[in-house]
Amino acid sequence: MTEPLGTDARPLRVAIVGAGPAGFYAAEALLKQQNLVCQIDIFNRLPTPYGLVREGVAPDHQSIKAVTRVYDKLAAAPNLRYFGNVTFGRDIFHEDVTQLYDQVVYAVGAQSDRKMGITGEDLDGSFPATIFVGWYNGHPDYCDLTFDLSHERVLVVGNGNVAMDVARILATDPEDLAKTDIADHALEALRKSKVREVVMLGRRGPAQAAFTNPELREFGELNGVDVIIDPADMELDEVSEASLADDKTARRNVELMRTYAERGNTGAPRRIVMRFLVSPVGIIGSGNRVAAVTIERNNLKQAADGSLKARGTGKYETLQCGMLLRSVGYRGSPIPGVPFSDSSGTIPNVAGRVFQDRDEVIPGEYVVGWAKRGPSGIIGTNKPDSVSTVAAMIEDIPSLEAIPDEKRGLHMIEELLRSRGVDYVTYADWKILDAHELAAGAAQGRPRVKVTCVDDMMKIIRAGR
Ligand code: NAP
Repeated sequence: MTEPLGTDARPLRVAIVGAGPAGFYAAEALLKQQNLVCQIDIFNRLPTPYGLVREGVAPDHQSIKAVTRVYDKLAAAPNLRYFGNVTFGRDIFHEDVTQLYDQVVYAVGAQSDRKMGITGEDLDGSFPATIFVGWYNGHPDYCDLTFDLSHERVLVVGNGNVAMDVARILATDPEDLAKTDIADHALEALRKSKVREVVMLGRRGPAQAAFTNPELREFGELNGVDVIIDPADMELDEVSEASLADDKTARRNVELMRTYAERGNTGAPRRIVMRFLVSPVGIIGSGNRVAAVTIERNNLKQAADGSLKARGTGKYETLQCGMLLRSVGYRGSPIPGVPFSDSSGTIPNVAGRVFQDRDEVIPGEYVVGWAKRGPSGIIGTNKPDSVSTVAAMIEDIPSLEAIPDEKRGLHMIEELLRSRGVDYVTYADWKILDAHELAAGAAQGRPRVKVTCVDDMMKIIRAGR
């Protein structure tokens, strides 16, 4: 008789694709199950784990990165293995994971960005903020990029926390950033930066901003930076003012912005200007480069669902700038062999169970994090999100068509990767690189000095193995 799945005799084999917070929280939820014996393999495209904690969280937000200690603890579990430097769709494929694992969890995040759909968006000097974030955080995909900061003004479109991050990094005194783990190439470029003004463009009003209180408070605490807000923008329409009663974050945001608007210009060397009720409608180039942006003034119109939407008024203005960062949201990208909804930019699912078409569930395949719900929420939001997907996974075990016993060998995935010439990175390997970065950081009084290209990472790992 076959032993039940999830027991010592027949552990549940789970593959998690993606080693960001959502992937680790899925592993944690599985490891915490009473009466479940499982063996988890986490695959990650980069050699380095932690996803957006390493490549997204701003370098001056070190305390947020302390969450990686939790992930390190999980990775020390004897029944969890890490396979870094393994690209899904190139080194391993959908058919591999479905043949070697009873369940597969996609934790691939949102790897791309939303477009605004206006003219000139592809000119040199117009970038998605996600790329700029990856660049200053030492993401290997962007380590070769250069950003021209030889001009005075950058425009940042959007009023979310990513827009706040990029505006703050551009305005912060580089010597303050030099104490962080910002990528060396970015520090060097920011030290030479001539940018003196960062203008944030919010399409709706101050009461509708998506950013949160701590990020806004930080603006007011930056050395050598004035936060400029037109006091007229702080006179809210009736519906916006009323909305503050039930929204503590927005209320506190508005209070803080009113203090900034009052403080005004103190003659600081750098400025963050927060504009509201404006939308870029076209980017103007000089040759191939961004030179200016046409913005349209908006007003707010209440939609049928009660929300306030931005509506153009037909009044335009032109702002000169040397660079434009659009920070209007991340977007998921399809991964080979896995369903993808183009409209939502996510892997279609119900409660974390992957769906093929409208109502055909794919047995044994699940999704967590931004790939499941879209690019929203802070790192901690991923924990309950992953817990709920794992609940569905556990519920499905009795009806699962398990992989055959001859496919259960733990060595099989290692042999498969080796046969394909993949030099996969174990957690012990990552710790070699981690130690290298920490030591380099300690020598400079910084948390770490990041290695930013995969070849260099692999050289350090191979030398230390
Ligand atoms: P977000 O919070 O969804 O904000 C997107 C912003 O873009 C909104 O202000 C939105 O305005 C605006 N927008 C969208 N389409 C636009 C358009 N066509 N034209 C002009 N503006 C447009 O996204 P995010 O900033 O990328 O952040 C993603 C998630 O990560 C968020 O949950 C965020 O809180 C989180 N995050 C957290 C931290 C932190 O905790 N420190 C740091 C970074 C990111 P509307 O409101 O009008 O749609």
